[in-house]
Amino acid sequence: MQYIGAIDQGTTSTRFLIFDQQGKLVTSHQVEFEQSCQKPGWIEHDPYDLLDSAIKCADEAMRKFEWMGNDPRDVKAIGIANQRETTLVWDNRTGEPLHNAIVWGDTRTNKLVKRFAKKPDAEIIQRLCGLPLHNYFSALKIRWLMDNVEKVKTAFDKEKAMFGTVDSWLVWNLTGGVQSGVHVTDVTNASRTMLMNIETRQWDPQLLDFFDIPASILPRIVSSSEVYGKVKWGPLEGLPISGCLGDQQAALVGQKCFSVGEVKNTYGTGAFLLFNVGHKPVFSTHGLLSTVAYQFGPDKSPVYALEGSVSVAGGAVRWLKDNMGIIEESSDINVLASKVEDTGGVQFIPAFSGLFAPYWRDDARGVLVGLTQYTNKYHLSRAVLEAACFSTRAILDAMKNDGNLPLKVLKADGGMSNSDVCMQIQADVLGITVERPAMNETTALGAAYAAGLAIGVWKDTDAIQKLTVDTKDTFQPKWKTDEREKRYAMWEAAIERSYGWTD
Ligand code: ADP
Repeated sequence: MQYIGAIDQGTTSTRFLIFDQQGKLVTSHQVEFEQSCQKPGWIEHDPYDLLDSAIKCADEAMRKFEWMGNDPRDVKAIGIANQRETTLVWDNRTGEPLHNAIVWGDTRTNKLVKRFAKKPDAEIIQRLCGLPLHNYFSALKIRWLMDNVEKVKTAFDKEKAMFGTVDSWLVWNLTGGVQSGVHVTDVTNASRTMLMNIETRQWDPQLLDFFDIPASILPRIVSSSEVYGKVKWGPLEGLPISGCLGDQQAALVGQKCFSVGEVKNTYGTGAFLLFNVGHKPVFSTHGLLSTVAYQFGPDKSPVYALEGSVSVAGGAVRWLKDNMGIIEESSDINVLASKVEDTGGVQFIPAFSGLFAPYWRDDARGVLVGLTQYTNKYHLSRAVLEAACFSTRAILDAMKNDGNLPLKVLKADGGMSNSDVCMQIQADVLGITVERPAMNETTALGAAYAAGLAIGVWKDTDAIQKLTVDTKDTFQPKWKTDEREKRYAMWEAAIERSYGWTD
């Protein structure tokens, strides 16, 4: 038996998981790390937390693997799935980070967005990179670091700076850092920077010029499945790193959405719905993003996706826990939400840092409407779960309006999909079946598939498609059509009220 390891470096935690040749999870370890929020709208991660947590998880998982009677030498390769867009800059001579990582949901670049939107060629940007000009993506985060952090400025001037998303940071360090580090990024991660041309899949001179970012700091763009290098130290020493995908693309692969028209929705900190559109990018006119889904080998043709990104889904559950103190554990929300049949007319819009797809409103902020004397924490808990489900409906409506066929089944995964209440509400809100695999670590599984394909553990995606399918839970819609439409109309009315809450 051969095994594949996967680092899943997410927004709130890092995991290391080991899968067998059947795609079955053998063992794993998970570590949460700190979210540093020094000012409203700012979110940073310590780059060493990201690296150290990956090493710690790998160490523990490999130890558990051995204790279970397995031979660690049977782990043949590792894959990486990572939080996307999060931006790091480090010194190429010392390996020291020049600043904390600026996380994808950080809004410090809002003013820069406005400034760049006034540039004459701003309108062609989306046609080149598939993404709207927005604080979410890496380009303006790099620009902010270059303009505001003295250490970064100096390193740029002296050509000592290196840029990378989390995948690049991990691969560079694991393959030997200053000694022998390989500076690469996989094409799915590169497609989230705003600097890559979505059609040629190369860094685009026009985009680099628009953002005034030097090409010399950028990693080499590689496919999602090939040997990038070998790990030079630590518990994974000697193993080839042979797969890499942005976490949402990895979940699409982990859910085996290899055919045009297949869709998955991952409910993590945010919610990310990806729709496989085949070998050519599709451009949305309804607020969706064009992105690379995967490219399994340097000579293989890439597969693209349309994406609907929601900035806050499980993040609102965490907010109930950490900020409001209404629950002690994320899973407690389900106990509270099950105590009531509905939200008692309450709508909650968790636009903590604006709204992503399909609205793209930086000026939106969270609102809670419809409160009465009768409203209690049970209604609020239910409204938090409903928010992720209505946000998903808005994305699917945009996909329909873009001319894509209506969906029959939604494949769900991610931390928040553990909530049966949430998944039932999702089926009710959409009026279609929702399926959740029993093994819902699909993000890591996608990275493992990519890594295994590169070294021949699986011949191709057909071989992966044939692997034993794990059991899954299904949720069937119960609401009547009028009720569904009435409730969605209330959501849309509440969305309108969230606009314009910033200066
Ligand atoms: P990420 O990769 O973005 O860190 P995960 O997929 O690990 O996200 O999911 C974590 C999110 O899911 C957190 O915001 C957490 O509050 C939420 N979550 C985890 N378990 C549950 C649960 N049983 N019910 C509802 N929400 C949950």
